Amino acid sequence: MLKLASRVAALQSSSIMDIAAQAGALKAKGVDVVTLAAGEPDFNTPEEIQVAATKAMAEGITKYTPSAGFNALREAIAEKVTRENGFPVKAEEVLITSGAKHALYFALQTLAEAGDAVLVPTPGWVSYHAMVELTGAQMIPLPIYEEDGFQLNVDRWKGMAIPPNARGILINSPNNPTGVAYSREQLKKFVGWALQRNLWILSDEIYEKILYDGAEHVSIASLGPEVRNHTITVSGFSKSHCMTGWRLGWAIGPADIIKKMSALQSQSISHVTSFVQWAGLTAAKLPASKIDEMVEKFDERRQYCLGRLEKMTEYCSYHRPNGAFYFFVNFSKFLNKVGKSDAEMCKELLSDHHVAIIPGSAFGKEKFVRISYANNIENLKKAFDRIEAYLKK
Ligand code: PMP
Ligand code: GLU
Repeated sequence: MLKLASRVAALQSSSIMDIAAQAGALKAKGVDVVTLAAGEPDFNTPEEIQVAATKAMAEGITKYTPSAGFNALREAIAEKVTRENGFPVKAEEVLITSGAKHALYFALQTLAEAGDAVLVPTPGWVSYHAMVELTGAQMIPLPIYEEDGFQLNVDRWKGMAIPPNARGILINSPNNPTGVAYSREQLKKFVGWALQRNLWILSDEIYEKILYDGAEHVSIASLGPEVRNHTITVSGFSKSHCMTGWRLGWAIGPADIIKKMSALQSQSISHVTSFVQWAGLTAAKLPASKIDEMVEKFDERRQYCLGRLEKMTEYCSYHRPNGAFYFFVNFSKFLNKVGKSDAEMCKELLSDHHVAIIPGSAFGKEKFVRISYANNIENLKKAFDRIEAYLKK
């Protein structure tokens, strides 16, 4: 066996991707699996974006592009963010990346290193931990409380000893896995707290368009020029434009940081696939009504799940989410009674009842599970029927 670099010795693949793959393998064998695992819209990519990609290929947009992305796309994203996210952005402050995931990875590689600590509000998305550790830095979880409805409440962190080597903090709103979109007031307080400690802020806004109950999306970088200089904003088309498999996202930040992230891209993947970038120009102009239609569908599904969860309170408790497409459900009532872990519950649900959901422990919160409702009502009904059968067994 060849000796592995210590950097990857303990590295595991994303548990979400693993569970989604296990569900996919069962499906391929003909098993009727309902997968509420990976958070990805079930709708296909809007037709005009598909057409733009095939047209680009036919016209020879099949060659290398600049590493940071086609200038036209950097400009289009800069315009989009200036118009919609409430802070001015120039093309040189935009890096086109292979999904929001790679933008986060490059940002962390650029900003963190061994000896640093990076703060991550927890529960938090599964890949943050691995990405921070790959830089050599240490991840420090900061608790987000169920009793606060998983809202961002920095007062809770006031008595905590934040180590002097803490350099940055990750923030994600609307949040995966809790489904909470933080309010402007909460974010303003958060920014004050982070700037006081001179932290950089990595703001993951991939669910910025998926909001309910009148919630507004607030970009951290829109909260003033000082915070803008400390913030890298990450987003993309995966969720809002049903483009998960295309791998198209972006990072926005001070030009010197973007330049270094672009150098990393240049020395690794070169750039995002040329015709995918070209189709991004059409995606950037997609009428808002198309996204609204999809969000309405997600909202119907959210309401359906709320109705089903209301009938399961003997086993679990939950909060009404106002963003993304997840329920983060506390099953400790049930799990304590049967003496099982959330991971065991998810494993049994998949193998015996053919429903794929994600254990909360993957997000740093045991006895919870994450249910993605980016699936049609028929499948959601099937999944909840099966979960109920498992609980009542
Ligand atoms: N951040 C969060 C919180 C996510 O849930 C995801 C999953 N899509 C990503 C980033 C990565 O998204 P992308 O598909 O654009 O890489
Ligand atoms: N982000 C999605 C999720 O949380 C997809 C999985 C992934 O990108 O790792 O389910």
